[in-house]
Amino acid sequence: CGIVGYVGNKDAKEILLQGLEKLEYRGYDSAGIAVVDQDSVQVFKEKGRIAVLRDIVDPAVESTMGIGHTRWATHGAPSKVNSHPHQSSAERFTLVHNGVIENYGKVKKEYLQDVTFVSDTDTEVVVQLIEKFVNEGESVEEAFRHALSVIKGSYAIALVDNQDPDTIYVGKNKSPLLVGVGEGFNVVASDAMAMISQTDKYVELMDEEIVIVTRDSYTIKTLDGQEVSREPYTAELDA
Ligand code: GLU
Repeated sequence: CGIVGYVGNKDAKEILLQGLEKLEYRGYDSAGIAVVDQDSVQVFKEKGRIAVLRDIVDPAVESTMGIGHTRWATHGAPSKVNSHPHQSSAERFTLVHNGVIENYGKVKKEYLQDVTFVSDTDTEVVVQLIEKFVNEGESVEEAFRHALSVIKGSYAIALVDNQDPDTIYVGKNKSPLLVGVGEGFNVVASDAMAMISQTDKYVELMDEEIVIVTRDSYTIKTLDGQEVSREPYTAELDA
């Protein structure tokens, strides 16, 4: 399973699909992507191979940013509805996740009694929680850090906001995730292999860190909002 993300100036869907193909070796049962343009997000996802996903991605969609996922089901059977990306009820937020949210049952009971869930995944609580915190007045970054402080378990997460085609939020705990640094673009990947054709400069994340990724910046923070500075290293992989 794996995660990719791209925010730049090229056709995002093609870069995401190629990135997911490079992660196929990690194993998966479903795949999906979400791309954001001026004021909308489009989600394409399906059970099965990436070739199947390729067939359903609308070639007319124009976007220069988005996120992608291959799923290895842990909670909820492999199916289209349980595939990632998952969306919040108002469809403002769209998220992909690798790992396991161990306290998802408790989080549902404590915070999300009023929410109607569409999937059987542990993941969906995270995106619903973010929307709830934003509705209560938090900024997206605050809501993201708040939600990651509430959940327990392992995660590599990437989040997009359909009101903001410039930013990908990522978070990591006990699951691999890297930020790849480019000129006028940045990428996100579980494994440098996925995006080595785009850039060979990567920034490692530590557990319980988030990164706010835009076309020309990446800002690393701890879950309580302290900024962290870390320089990229050069990955020695053949493109
Ligand atoms: N636990 C999540 C699910 O079952 C993510 C699985 C994964 O790592 O792909 O949907």
